[in-house]
Amino acid sequence: MQKISEDSIRQFMMMQESGLLHSFEQLKKENEQFQRTIKDMSALVTCTNIDSMVKFIISRFIDYFVPESLVFMIKKPRSSEIIQYYYEQLKKSEECLVEELFYSLKDFFDANSSYYMSGEAVPVEKLADSMSDEVFSTKSFSINPKYIIPLIGIGGTCGIVIFGNKIIGGHYDTAELFYLKNMFSVFAISLQNEMNYKTSITDPKTGLYTYDYFVKRIQEKIAKARRYNSTSAILMLDIDHFKKFNDTYGHLVGDKVLVELAKTLVDSLREEDCVGRFGGEEFVVLLSECKPDSIFKVSERIRASVEQMEIFENGQRLKVTVSIGGSKILPDPDESPKSVIKRIDDALYQSKANGRNRSTIV
Ligand code: GH3
Ligand code: MG
Ligand code: MG
Repeated sequence: MQKISEDSIRQFMMMQESGLLHSFEQLKKENEQFQRTIKDMSALVTCTNIDSMVKFIISRFIDYFVPESLVFMIKKPRSSEIIQYYYEQLKKSEECLVEELFYSLKDFFDANSSYYMSGEAVPVEKLADSMSDEVFSTKSFSINPKYIIPLIGIGGTCGIVIFGNKIIGGHYDTAELFYLKNMFSVFAISLQNEMNYKTSITDPKTGLYTYDYFVKRIQEKIAKARRYNSTSAILMLDIDHFKKFNDTYGHLVGDKVLVELAKTLVDSLREEDCVGRFGGEEFVVLLSECKPDSIFKVSERIRASVEQMEIFENGQRLKVTVSIGGSKILPDPDESPKSVIKRIDDALYQSKANGRNRSTIV
């Protein structure tokens, strides 16, 4: 074993007495903390949906502190709906806060965006001075909030995170606030990315996937059919005599039918299936792992559920029907999205020519 010289001991004592040793220890701790924060931020960026982002953040907080309550309020794009994640002592709860609270805070942060940074925890006392008492009344707040974190992007405030006090350990210290700021500024960016991506691949009227996205999914299924011999199928649906429907009841009622039809399609399919709007009153359905002899059965089930759809207008029940064309995806080398679409388009034409409200599978 190496012998410690008297000089080394003297140097050590001097460092300790001067406080240098303590500073080194402090720096080491801070460095470890930076590394942990960067690691968590990098992991957060890899989460691909809001659920997994929130879950990840919660899972990391357990290592740091436990807030009495923690609520995420996130505004869905193209809708006034607020998604809420409500945690009590980091356990998911079914509780939720009133939506007006989100809008009051959003209005405030949007109007004062130059004073607040996205992701930075703002003490409630500071906000309470600048906002009306109404916002922080017990009616709006069933929890005792300590900090409000705005999630701000190009389009304004898209989310609000509300923190209660820690259950143990007193105040949030500088290191904890530093961690929160970094995590939530990354969360705000990831959230906007996810929302922008979703918006870019979905149709604003029905929320279904767009043509471009759907074609990409067909391409993937063709590759899978070739490589793994998997059997997927595609259906194309077109509403029968929809022009006449619009002429009779008006375009707004027609739009209501499109939205209802989209819901019916999504509800009647499995999660791994994919529904798109190809334009106007034409829809497409990608049936994952659907055996060729089941395609007709699935198609007829969908057709029947559209026929049974209940759309009421001025007390009158309106009905629409669809014609469907379908085909399986072939593992052939010359199969392409274009060739599949051509086949299902021809099959759909046959359904129309044979009297409508029917399925043709080729
Ligand atoms: P067919 O049975 O042969 O399909 O007859 P159709 O009248 O449905 O077909 P056509 O192609 O002549 O007309 C399609 C109609 O779909 C015309 C248009 O008014 C309507 N349409 C397309 N997009 C929308 C939309 O976004 N909203 C509404 N309300 N109607 C739409
Ligand atoms: Mg059409
Ligand atoms: Mg039509």
